[in-house]
Amino acid sequence: MADHREKLSDGKPFFGQVTFSERFPGVESVLVTVQDSEFGSTEKPQITRYSEESVGEFHDCTATYCYKGGIRIGNLLREMVRERKEDGSFARDCCGKLGSPKGRNTYGKCNHFFEVTAKIVYKPAKV
Ligand SMILES: [Zn+2]
Repeated sequence: MADHREKLSDGKPFFGQVTFSERFPGVESVLVTVQDSEFGSTEKPQITRYSEESVGEFHDCTATYCYKGGIRIGNLLREMVRERKEDGSFARDCCGKLGSPKGRNTYGKCNHFFEVTAKIVYKPAKV
């Protein structure tokens, strides 16, 4: 069976159901890297990379029993495009809650945090 864990991105449109470059025609390409780490853990952080085809409004937390966790990356990208910035980054704690496998019990806040870096390449401006 597929993973039925509730995700932050469930039911949320990805840039209004279009890809990033369709939504922002002035953008040539996007590379978003999300580093997903756990506080106090010695395990290597999980790295997820998104392109202009795959990037969405949210990155879902990789913690196995994290519910509705993750980070919103759409706002950063919109702001970067508005200001025509090529590099952007921010970091934030996971907003999710840890729960039992079926989600009946929660055990408090997820201890993951995310570091997001984004690079945007713009098409040459029209003259
Ligand atoms: Zn989480």
